[in-house]
Amino acid sequence: MCGKPDNKIECVMCGACCIAFDISVLGKKAGEPCAHLTAGRQCGIYENRPWGCRGYRPDELCVLFSSLSEEDKVRLLRKIYGV
Ligand code: SF4
Ligand code: SF4
Repeated sequence: MCGKPDNKIECVMCGACCIAFDISVLGKKAGEPCAHLTAGRQCGIYENRPWGCRGYRPDELCVLFSSLSEEDKVRLLRKIYGV
């Protein structure tokens, strides 16, 4: 659907994207939780997070996957993005 003036999607801080992707500058492998991901599923170094993390934005996938388990979110993100 289109035409909505403000279609910004909110991050619900599920943490799936902080597990699914590899972040070489942190030595983080795809599928492994980032060492900076807190128990509350927030970024522990938010103000100093790498550029790759800064560039990632919540999108429709975050909404579509919202009811899935963390494991399934991570699995699908990795499959979709090929990581
Ligand atoms: S997967 Fe989407 S909703 Fe979950 S933390 Fe990442 S950006 Fe936020
Ligand atoms: S540095 Fe922060 S935003 Fe980046 S993957 Fe780790 S917890 Fe997520």
